[in-house]
Amino acid sequence: MLKCPRDGAELKIEHHQGIEVDHCPTCNGRWLDHGELDQLEATVADEDTRRATIEYAKRPSDLQCPKCDKTMRAFNYRAYNLEIDTCEDEHGFWLDAGEEGKVRDIMEERVRGLERAASAEESWGKFLGKMGNKSVWDNIKGMFGGGRR
Ligand SMILES: [Zn+2]
Ligand SMILES: [Zn+2]
Repeated sequence: MLKCPRDGAELKIEHHQGIEVDHCPTCNGRWLDHGELDQLEATVADEDTRRATIEYAKRPSDLQCPKCDKTMRAFNYRAYNLEIDTCEDEHGFWLDAGEEGKVRDIMEERVRGLERAASAEESWGKFLGKMGNKSVWDNIKGMFGGGRR
């Protein structure tokens, strides 16, 4: 039985959007096995929309993996202001209460953006523009080049 990384409560298996997830009855957080985050995205977006990295601004998390107890890694989901924790050994992802809804909102927003755009390039440009396009690549490079603290 897995335990909640936030409060130690036993996680209960529930079916959510057709995906089996481990749900904490205390804090309403959810543990998704590696691959289930992709399945969650797939409920709203096709493969093309889901391509590209989802992990930005990686940093050590203060939570432990419910499977192996290793300190997890926190990241910003697809460069949005949404922090998700993941195990470096690919055991899964921890989503706090309501975050799985935000994942779906973000994917729906991307789908709508792609539909509106005349081309993928235009859409990518918009996406970068939204992030404030000033030296965005330098920021990303900095995040990945910085190594672990
Ligand atoms: Zn909990
Ligand atoms: Zn783990």
